[in-house]
Amino acid sequence: MFSMYSYILDTFLWPLCSLLQQSDQVSATKGELETSQDCVAKESGRLVEKKESEEVSQEDLPDELCQDPTQTLSRGLRKEEQTPKRLRLILVGRTGSGKSATGNSILGKKVFESKISAVPVTKTFQRGTREWDGQELEVIDTPDILSSLFQSDVADQQICQAITFSSPGPHAVLLVTQLGQFTEYDTRAVRRLQEIFGVGILAHTILVFTRKEDLAGGSLDEYLRKTDNQDLHKLDVLCLRRHCGFSNRGERVEQEAQLQELMEQVRGILWETEGHHYSNKAYQYTQKHLMLKQVQQTEMTQQQGSEKVLVKRSSLEGLSQIQKESEKTHKYLLGKVSF
Ligand code: GDP
Ligand code: MG
Repeated sequence: MFSMYSYILDTFLWPLCSLLQQSDQVSATKGELETSQDCVAKESGRLVEKKESEEVSQEDLPDELCQDPTQTLSRGLRKEEQTPKRLRLILVGRTGSGKSATGNSILGKKVFESKISAVPVTKTFQRGTREWDGQELEVIDTPDILSSLFQSDVADQQICQAITFSSPGPHAVLLVTQLGQFTEYDTRAVRRLQEIFGVGILAHTILVFTRKEDLAGGSLDEYLRKTDNQDLHKLDVLCLRRHCGFSNRGERVEQEAQLQELMEQVRGILWETEGHHYSNKAYQYTQKHLMLKQVQQTEMTQQQGSEKVLVKRSSLEGLSQIQKESEKTHKYLLGKVSF
């Protein structure tokens, strides 16, 4: 286990951290980002940094890196596991990979529409909940937010929606892909995932392979160990080999066993993060402005043209700006380190 962590630290994370500390351009980008935001985002960023600074000086690191495994591992090894009452799991991946079907399997009931279609079936963000082992599981189903094919104002809005909908941040990201179908598209989707949420998001990511039945009783571990798909192999290592298979058309008993396996991976993440969900500047901003509440209230009261709608709009604009600046920084970082 340790050799795998060392490999990841040496190969990917330490170069990234030293790059961050050396890079004038990153500091400049971050400086611009900070000065262009209101003091709310600044202060909430400081709060996280202060909390973490007892162990590693975080001064020059973006908030996202506060949650990378180099730090969460050391904290996790020293403290006891913490178990939040409510766990947020967000499903991401390409259209047709089986996100909605996996969400239904986790929930043990049909909540999300799931079918083969020439056009995306899931067009909005939806959530379903269930009780599991004394905890409340919240499963968030999404449209394909990782497709770089559709980068536009609509896509930007969708990303802001993804953030507000999963606020205050997911405990785990379930990156859904169909077994045997990991292509260049998925590699680009992973990059997009890091651009949107930050490079540290992979420490909270579990690879979920649907159509597990295609293994015909074979082991997913062995499949991933032996695959000649280098991108898939690398991704599995970067996600600390957190993966599991789902056969979404399986019997109830099989589905519960799959969920058990998934939850073991989620517990691994919680252990390393001391039960903290993922967060970044955009999530902190969203929290600070209580946007979710405002959106819900606005929808409920339908007060078009009122003050509330104006507040909602300006909050969304602020979030969109923070998100764009963060993505710029993440793109720069990802361009410097070849994953
Ligand atoms: P989404 O677009 O990612 O939400 O994908 P859907 O959940 O709508 O699934 C697309 C299609 O794949 C549907 O017809 C599902 O029934 C099918 N599917 C999803 N998971 C599995 C699986 O594990 N096994 C099989 N045989 N079909 C699956
Ligand atoms: Mg769907």
